[in-house]
Amino acid sequence: MTGNQGQWITVDDQGRLCVPSRPVIGFIEGDGTGPDIWRAAQRVLDAAVRAAYQGSREIVWKELLAGEKAFARTGQWLPDQTVEDIRKCVVAIKGPLTTPVGGGMRSLNVTLRQVLDLYACVRPVRWVRGVPSPMKHPERVNMVVFRENTEDVYAGIEWPAGSREAEKVRAFLCEELGVCVREQAGIGIKPISRFGTERLVRRAIRYALQHGLPSVTLVHKGNIMKYTEGAFRQWGYELAAREFPDKTVTEEELENRWNGQAPQGTVVLKDRIADAMFQQALLRPEEYHVLATPNLNGDYLSDALAAQVGGLGMAPGANIGDRCALFEATHGTAPKYAGLDKVNPSSVLLSGAMMLDHLGWNEAARLVERALERTVSDKIVTYDLARMMDGAREVKCSQFADAVIERL
Ligand code: NAD
Repeated sequence: MTGNQGQWITVDDQGRLCVPSRPVIGFIEGDGTGPDIWRAAQRVLDAAVRAAYQGSREIVWKELLAGEKAFARTGQWLPDQTVEDIRKCVVAIKGPLTTPVGGGMRSLNVTLRQVLDLYACVRPVRWVRGVPSPMKHPERVNMVVFRENTEDVYAGIEWPAGSREAEKVRAFLCEELGVCVREQAGIGIKPISRFGTERLVRRAIRYALQHGLPSVTLVHKGNIMKYTEGAFRQWGYELAAREFPDKTVTEEELENRWNGQAPQGTVVLKDRIADAMFQQALLRPEEYHVLATPNLNGDYLSDALAAQVGGLGMAPGANIGDRCALFEATHGTAPKYAGLDKVNPSSVLLSGAMMLDHLGWNEAARLVERALERTVSDKIVTYDLARMMDGAREVKCSQFADAVIERL
């Protein structure tokens, strides 16, 4: 129980959430345009929950400090209390945060993912009717990307060219392992582990099964990087065979055993080489549903897919671990528009809808998505979409939220 009558979400030993009717949920409003989009999104989320449950459920918001606001008040960019509070809340949502330049500061987003072990970056990519897209058939794109968030070349293990560390690694490689790296080479390490791969692929397969989606595709570059990306593929297949033997079917089994027709209640497990996957995403997107990827592939692929359906201003996302989940706007702080009540709140708003689904409050999540779609279809949009649409009515960020609330 908390002071303002909210209750904490808890997690049982199977990793399932126990969500009370008045859960305390943490929010970080973010820097730059963060406060504008967060204010707008919060109003819509509250209104959707009211409309769906007539007062029998309600979110009790708890503000958590991070970024510039935290620095101004506490002298720290990411106070320990904030990390502690996210752990306590279990579920939180955030606007974009400025990465302080210089002083060797790590990105706050990366730090949050690491300290909370939020190992899966989950990005659903779906076209919202009415949003301008460069594709002829953006409606054919409907995928959820599960990107591994803690390993790969993003693990932060790297040294600048000519540094003492890089020279030491170079000498070790040459003298101990007989492989030579050129002088003056920056060196980075690409760790991909069985543990990191398995927990990500397990989550992707479970998601597909829970949502009745037909396939999970492992996206890798294993033809070249055999012991990292190739191992990701191999371990992914092994995990499926071991933990989901009756629930997954490989493409080979689909042809040879099932005559092209997967049995009811199973998902088809495929794999694609990353470069081919980019082509498939453009040419045959309807054949892909859930993608499981190592960190770097997933970073490129999720932004490219978001562009296919109308850009990052609309794309929701979450970073999820075994205990905590942090939902977030996927774009940056757009500092030149800070405080102008101008930018598009859809990314953080749709992340809020994902969060409602995560709580099991699916009725409220659908209300948000449908009302947002109706608003855009009615051509009521913020400046970023207005400039690409004929006959659009350009509204401010807060007015867009009003229009969505009217359509709930
Ligand atoms: P940005 O996303 O802030 O801006 C890129 C472009 O997109 C700009 O033209 C901007 O005006 C536009 N844009 C962004 N959000 C929009 C929205 N909601 N509606 C309409 N248009 C929008 O990226 P940047 O300029 O590279 O980064 C600015 C700051 O944001 C940096 O400090 C960076 O570190 C930070 N950043 C944070 C996150 C995060 O917190 N997840 C992600 C990326 C960048």
